[in-house]
Amino acid sequence: MSFWNSLSITTRYSRLPRCFFTYVQPTPLDNSRWLIWNSELAKQFDLPENVHNHSELLDAFSGETVPSVFAPLAMKYAGHQFGSYNPDLGDGRGLLLAEIKDKKGNSFDLHLKGAGLTPYSRSGDGRAVLRSTIREYLCSEAMAGLGIPTTRALGMMTSDTPVFREGYETGALLIRMAETHIRFGHFEHLFYSNLLEELKLLSDKVIEWHFPCCLGEDKPYLAMFNNIVDRTAYMIAQWQAVGFAHGVMNTDNMSIIGQTFDYGPFGFLDDYEPGYICNHSDYQGRYAFNQQPRIGLWNLSALAHSLSPLIDKSDLEKALEQYEIKLHDYFSQLMRKKLGLFSKQEGDSRLFESMFELLSQGAVDYTRFMRALSYLDSQDKQTVIDLFVDRDAATLWVNLYLTRCKLEADSSDMRCSKMRKVNPKYILRNYLAQQAIVKANEGDFSDVKILSTLLASPFDEHPDFEHYAEFPPEWGKKMEISCSS
Ligand code: AMP
Ligand code: MG
Repeated sequence: MSFWNSLSITTRYSRLPRCFFTYVQPTPLDNSRWLIWNSELAKQFDLPENVHNHSELLDAFSGETVPSVFAPLAMKYAGHQFGSYNPDLGDGRGLLLAEIKDKKGNSFDLHLKGAGLTPYSRSGDGRAVLRSTIREYLCSEAMAGLGIPTTRALGMMTSDTPVFREGYETGALLIRMAETHIRFGHFEHLFYSNLLEELKLLSDKVIEWHFPCCLGEDKPYLAMFNNIVDRTAYMIAQWQAVGFAHGVMNTDNMSIIGQTFDYGPFGFLDDYEPGYICNHSDYQGRYAFNQQPRIGLWNLSALAHSLSPLIDKSDLEKALEQYEIKLHDYFSQLMRKKLGLFSKQEGDSRLFESMFELLSQGAVDYTRFMRALSYLDSQDKQTVIDLFVDRDAATLWVNLYLTRCKLEADSSDMRCSKMRKVNPKYILRNYLAQQAIVKANEGDFSDVKILSTLLASPFDEHPDFEHYAEFPPEWGKKMEISCSS
């Protein structure tokens, strides 16, 4: 039996009608070679932990040979980009190679990003550069380490193919995994093309594959939409709690199962700046950090519109009304955990609000602040107060917080030990990604590897790598990232 035949590979998406995709063979890059292989993730799928003895893996993932069990295809979708509908989207440089089952029998897409031209490439070249591939690899694994729903990265390859962006860069490939690559934009494509039978079929498949719990419901399509609302609210609450800005929340970048998807010009907050815009091309701040909850609703409303042939308008409206309530609840729960305040007490909202006000006024590093709070069992409160310029205001708040902590059942060391499990020490600051990219472009991948290890366990201490948890240098703060990738 061949290597690929021995694995549990399926091609269920390819059995959908042809308006859902086009078959496309990958176009290999010159001299593709492994830069990093995610052996931890590989284990879940019975894939080898070490790629070096397995030329089949490089051959298949670089597109040199397509195993007979694969059925590479470019998915068709559409989407609202910066508020305007664009019917002409689809996988312009990525291919769904096949699906693979993990040890528990759950199916995951094997998606190859940077695999060459497709019918949906428009004016693009079908490629991905090393810079953006490293950013996506590191960030998706960082999000997984933080426990935030996300697509995963199984590996990445570099090559000798030059790819032109603002200048020449190195062409690279990323193997992305997710339970599905179906986006809000898949539904929009079928709705706006008036393919209503196919819209129903897609909904049936999404329920069968991803929301089987909806099958027994009176209104399965509505139940599916309620689940999507819930997952989206949960994902965005997680972004807001950790300080993550996605940067391009177009509906074609919204996963139907509520995973963080399509990493482009994202950024983690350094100083707590609610209006932080990480995307250099986002002139209006549509996707600013503090706009994300609102945009989540906008995107869900666009999806609701596309589902209107299947679900009553009044039901859709009621489902959408739940979004803000759910997001608020999830966010409060997450912030309670971050602050170690589990019981609900009068004055808690004001304590939370005043914390955000202080952080924002003082432009205080969000991650360092939250982490410092989780050491108040062993460290003096001055370590927190010293993060602020206005120390009087900070002293007042910290005293209020410590008084409030006394109302908790947990002792302070118990509280702090729980807090250290939810307040990361290591996040993918933009400047860290940038430094790793500069080195990688010189052929030194050591920083990419160190970061991927640190970010897989961001709550743990890594004494030899303290400097990766330091404050960012001035040049590295508030970097705006170009959309070109
Ligand atoms: P993104 O901004 O990466 O979410 O991509 C938006 C659309 O542009 C999608 O249809 C992508 O497949 C397509 N696209 C982005 N970059 C390229 C590229 N270099 N070549 C072809 N298509 C691309
Ligand atoms: Mg995209």
